[in-house]
Amino acid sequence: MRIFVAAVGTETDSFSPIPTGLQSFREYLWFEPGTHPAEARFFTGPLVAARERARGEGHELVEGLSAFAAPAGVTSAAAWRELRGRVLAELEAALPVDVVLLSLHGAMIAENELDCEGDLLEAVRARVGAQTVVGAELDPHCHLGERMLQNADLLVLYKEYPHTDTLERARELVDLALRAARGEIRPVMAAADCRMIALFHTPREPVRGFVDRMRALEGRDGILSVSLAHGFPWGDVPEMGAKVLVVADGDRQRAQALAHELARAVRSMRGNTTEPVLGLDEGLDRALAAPRGPVVLADTADNAGGGAPSDSTFVLARLLERRVERACLGPLWDPVAVRFCHLAGPGARLSLRIGGKVGPISGPPLDVEAEVLSVAEGARQRFGGGWTQLGDVAAIRVGGVEVLLNATRTQAFDPALFTDHGIDLADKKLVVVKSMQHFHAGFAPIAREILWVNGPGALSQDFARLPYRRVPRPIWPLDPPELAFADAIGDPLR
Ligand SMILES: [Zn+2]
Repeated sequence: MRIFVAAVGTETDSFSPIPTGLQSFREYLWFEPGTHPAEARFFTGPLVAARERARGEGHELVEGLSAFAAPAGVTSAAAWRELRGRVLAELEAALPVDVVLLSLHGAMIAENELDCEGDLLEAVRARVGAQTVVGAELDPHCHLGERMLQNADLLVLYKEYPHTDTLERARELVDLALRAARGEIRPVMAAADCRMIALFHTPREPVRGFVDRMRALEGRDGILSVSLAHGFPWGDVPEMGAKVLVVADGDRQRAQALAHELARAVRSMRGNTTEPVLGLDEGLDRALAAPRGPVVLADTADNAGGGAPSDSTFVLARLLERRVERACLGPLWDPVAVRFCHLAGPGARLSLRIGGKVGPISGPPLDVEAEVLSVAEGARQRFGGGWTQLGDVAAIRVGGVEVLLNATRTQAFDPALFTDHGIDLADKKLVVVKSMQHFHAGFAPIAREILWVNGPGALSQDFARLPYRRVPRPIWPLDPPELAFADAIGDPLR
């Protein structure tokens, strides 16, 4: 078999003020063809999985570009033209191929394209023809659109949120694609629209049970793969919302029937798919009243992983106002403050302005007296079977709070975010992480308790108040269930 593999994507927050340009890809994840290291990065599972199979079975693998940008605002038209053009030119040079494998996100929006993945898959299909197997791995926070379904043979989504299973799903995708190319299976896909906007925390019930049910359905009775597209609520596109995807072996009706059945089950979980989200002071009151620490408190509204700035000061300001001791917070994105700390060096005390630089959604900057605890260049965190960058970092102490400042915008994934830089978590009462849910995999083992707060910030979970312009109505929770589910197939109001 001759296989082409590439990775391109980002998660676009339509409401984020941070532009996404070509440089955003170059500085976050960028490997020219053939230069990807042996170990998988977050988002490059298909390449690593394809290498494993190519080595083991003697396939010919042609590697294209791997490029991902940290979630932020809309991607520039020039950047999309460049990325799309690069991958397609690499594919054309590789033709003929038996299999095309892409690592995509599924929620990338460019100035000139609302559905980047649908656009790319359509262009790929136009170049390879109907006989080549085209497969892609997607993030469940994708907008599962018709153009993607029409032009791919196989779409496999991560099942877990936190996304701890990216490499596992990539191996499944590669396996199904190779079997399809050998003619052993004939994948057909069908999706069902749940007509709802929601987040889904997979470690907790009832979502845990739903994920286990999806897995149990696979590999039997002609069902090859089952995925739940959670949707990405901060992407303002016509295809936004939760959807179920089923891949069956040759039987599209069977795939469609199962997708509708599972969509009914998803609708029945509505309002119960995440941990309770508290207000900022409510969360702090509960955390500080806990008999023992550390209590991990997630500042979900400033999650860089959803396109938020990660430089908001609302939580830190309240910690300082309330004179909270034995607390830490991170990562707070502030390249200027990191630079000043590197210049001053460990042990220095200096007046520092931190955070609040992106705009009003980040709150005002804080002017503090800081002690520099440590500095490091090119730091990183482990996540999802790979590494993600933190950039240059500085750990500082401000009052009773130790803060991890970083220069490459990203969310909290792993306790090493703090402990690698001299911030001890064992003696902390409170650990504040800027993250929506991905922190859970790494921090749950060290947390006495975990609390989710939705304080002020960019990623409001009050979806009814987001200024959508393109999301078709009715949809829950913007509209009541009897309207949102009225056209859904089967038992609509369950
Ligand atoms: Zn995601």
